[in-house]
Amino acid sequence: MPLLSERDHQSRVRSRPAAGRRRLLILGGTGEAAALADALSAHDNIEPITSLAGRTAAPAAPAGAVRVGGFGGVSGLLGYLRTESIDLVIDATHPFAQQITRNATIACWSAEVPLLRLERPLWPRHPDDIWHEVSTLVDAAAAVPKFGTRAFLTVGAGELQPFAGLPQVWFLVRLIDAPPNRLPLADYEVVLGRGPFSAAKELRLLDEQRIDVVVAKHSGGEATYGKIAAARALGLPVILLHRPILPPAERPETEVGTVDEALAWVEAQLT
Ligand code: NAP
Repeated sequence: MPLLSERDHQSRVRSRPAAGRRRLLILGGTGEAAALADALSAHDNIEPITSLAGRTAAPAAPAGAVRVGGFGGVSGLLGYLRTESIDLVIDATHPFAQQITRNATIACWSAEVPLLRLERPLWPRHPDDIWHEVSTLVDAAAAVPKFGTRAFLTVGAGELQPFAGLPQVWFLVRLIDAPPNRLPLADYEVVLGRGPFSAAKELRLLDEQRIDVVVAKHSGGEATYGKIAAARALGLPVILLHRPILPPAERPETEVGTVDEALAWVEAQLT
């Protein structure tokens, strides 16, 4: 997939969809969102627009129209749904991106726009996995010294602060973009990379860097499963952060786990 910097950041969106077409807003930032945009970009009756938060400097460019940046809370999203004549919304954001899911639920309910949540299933637990499951990043940080002194940390650039007070641990931190400033960690090295990551490459990385514990979010999906499979193969513990669960009133009523199911939902909306 090309990077968005190679294309217009703000693809032109006509103020009204062409006659007979329904405009679908895909809240993106995941491989599933990109796959949906890809599958729907040649659809006769659907005009997909992918929305990206703009967290990474050069995100992969999905097929079709793209907009980048926050909407400005619930009211901003509600305004966008109305001014852009959005007919349908699929929230295909990351399982840990709670705020946008909450905002989409409220805005779509107010605008009476059908909303689907596409959330990939959890990784199945293999009998040989050594998982230590935690509910918060603070708990994850507290667990690290119990398991090792060389940790592979893959929780995202904005979530490192809880790991600051661990001078006895060396961190290998994987990020998409080079950090502009020093990270809030005592002892670390950064490795840059954008998924998908194969199990073979992850195994080599963990082995070469003499990693003894992996810290990860329970994201699910294939793109980042490589480190889980590699940790299992090397007999390493994984400190795994549980997915947040929004209360029912703050998340979409209709939820599916795969891109194919989301496409079937779109077809059902057209009939
Ligand atoms: P978040 O906490 O749920 O959202 C914070 C704010 O970012 C939202 O209120 C919204 O701003 C804006 N935003 C988020 N996703 C957006 C989108 N697709 N389009 C437009 N604005 C968006 O989300 P986050 O955890 O910061 O994640 C941001 C994006 O990165 C998501 O699209 C997510 O899929 C992706 N991502 C997140 C993680 C993770 O672990 N959290 C991992 C990989 C990828 P306004 O209120 O101004 O509208």
